[in-house]
Amino acid sequence: MDNFFQHRARKRFGQNFLVDENIIEKIVRAVAPRESDRLVEIGPGQGAITQLLLARCPSLTAIELDRDLIPPLKFKFRNYEQFQIIEQDALKFDFGEFAGDNKLRIVGNLPYNISTPLLFHLLGFRGAIQDMHFMLQKEVVDRLGATPGSKAYGRLSVMVQYFCRVQGLFPVPPQSFRPAPKVDSAIVRLTPHTTQPHTARDEKLLERIVNIAFQQRRKTLRNALKPLYPDLDANQLPIDAGRRPETLSVQEFVQLANYCAELDS
Ligand code: SAM
Repeated sequence: MDNFFQHRARKRFGQNFLVDENIIEKIVRAVAPRESDRLVEIGPGQGAITQLLLARCPSLTAIELDRDLIPPLKFKFRNYEQFQIIEQDALKFDFGEFAGDNKLRIVGNLPYNISTPLLFHLLGFRGAIQDMHFMLQKEVVDRLGATPGSKAYGRLSVMVQYFCRVQGLFPVPPQSFRPAPKVDSAIVRLTPHTTQPHTARDEKLLERIVNIAFQQRRKTLRNALKPLYPDLDANQLPIDAGRRPETLSVQEFVQLANYCAELDS
């Protein structure tokens, strides 16, 4: 750790700092930044990943919530003219407005306590994002890439796979961090689709249906949909109503949502 960071890791900010040089290099190799990229790093911490990213790409904006980390980060990277740091909660940051006409490449060893809401926040700006490389709890990476019928398959899998290509890249053990987290971690790459493989007519409705489906994993589709559509004629559904919602593929959820969108119109 640089001696200008007189910093004790704060649990409430999900601070587990990367100290394993090999892993940091592996992450940056996976990102493969180019000089012309617009990089955004969420939660630079003490700048472990930032440093190597900046060596390859001068245009980097870091978003950090912990105000005590801002002065030492500014000092550490004072010689990089296109480095800027924004003291803000990434959950409230408008990535779309920030991107303007550019596409952002987003990187982050994310605070695990906010990773799911942050992923949903970012999906809202998918049109402004080229790709995202994140360190997450391994269990979350497994959920992101899960296939229908598996235990890990849920709302997060369906909604993220609807919007993005998901690639789990490599695991990262707890001892690569200080302090060491209690869980295993992994790196994932999310690439928003430029052309959607399946298009929901009403994406909010798709989200509502997916939410309700996974709130009651053991129910049949017929019963799971009842709270939303009490008068639904299950025989008319494009999917067998006796199936469990957790067995539906992303494409089938889209088919179902498009059918329900017609009922609403
Ligand atoms: N990137 C550093 C590393 O790999 O060593 C630090 C990673 S640490 C797991 C998470 C970082 O995100 C911390 O620096 C923390 O202060 C910051 N953070 C926590 N909540 C945040 C939020 N809502 N918005 C932006 N940054 C946040």
